[in-house]
Amino acid sequence: MKRKSFLTALGLLPIFPTMKLNELNKLTSAFSSTPTMPALFVGHGNPMNAITDNEYGHAWQQLGKTLPKPNAVLCISAHWETKGTFVTAMQKPKTIHDFGGFPKALFDVQYPAPGSEELAKETKAGITKTNIEFDYDWGLDHGSWSVLKHIYPNADVPVVEMSLDNRQSPQWHFELAKELAALRNKGILIVGSGNMVHNLRAVDFNMAGGFDWAIEANETMKKLIAERDFKSLADYRSLGRAVQLAVPTPEHYLPLLYALGLAGQNESISLFNDKAEIGSITMTSLLIGKN
Ligand code: ZN
Repeated sequence: MKRKSFLTALGLLPIFPTMKLNELNKLTSAFSSTPTMPALFVGHGNPMNAITDNEYGHAWQQLGKTLPKPNAVLCISAHWETKGTFVTAMQKPKTIHDFGGFPKALFDVQYPAPGSEELAKETKAGITKTNIEFDYDWGLDHGSWSVLKHIYPNADVPVVEMSLDNRQSPQWHFELAKELAALRNKGILIVGSGNMVHNLRAVDFNMAGGFDWAIEANETMKKLIAERDFKSLADYRSLGRAVQLAVPTPEHYLPLLYALGLAGQNESISLFNDKAEIGSITMTSLLIGKN
């Protein structure tokens, strides 16, 4: 097919009769093509990790120094659940302090990364599974800023958050994630932020490591990740009592499924911050793709 008839078939020629293909590309994508960006699942844990000098923050800071600098970040945070799927589309997302009982210093934290309407649009355009809606009210909750503050301390990388539709199954989220993968070739760093093991009711602040069941669940998940048995991980409710205790509610686990849904067949998956704390939380995190 000649270029002109091809464009006519797309229905584009009547509107843009003199447009060249590279201009058309600019119109349809605000981001130029890049080598595939790595993707992350980050265990964020205690909000105080945002301002505490500890090994988790050090690992996040190291990511900022070693990952290719992205055009923007798309963060799927455990702390934004909605009916339907939303992406933040405002120019200046506010820093949301979505917690209570912490020191003033944590409430004083601002993370003034710009938003990216372009990424919001690009995300919506790439998804066929559901209608993605634009949000102008949310901002950045601590699932994103407590981690990104370490990775990009200058807040100079635009950030868009995508919400978790809490009416959907884990399998649905896993499938949705696959449709985000193309963004990785547009210089977008996709970050799932939650915790693999996360049972707040069982927390024991006097405990340094994890309960037996928390360790067992974490090991089960890591084994399935190594075997790339993502289907079983999506069907986590069938993985036995330890995993049921580790994932009493889905919101901190689902961001893991987003990260796994992005993993290419031959891509490496490496672990970091693989540690349990206060009994019932694991900080175990994944870097997907070559660094
Ligand atoms: Zn959390």
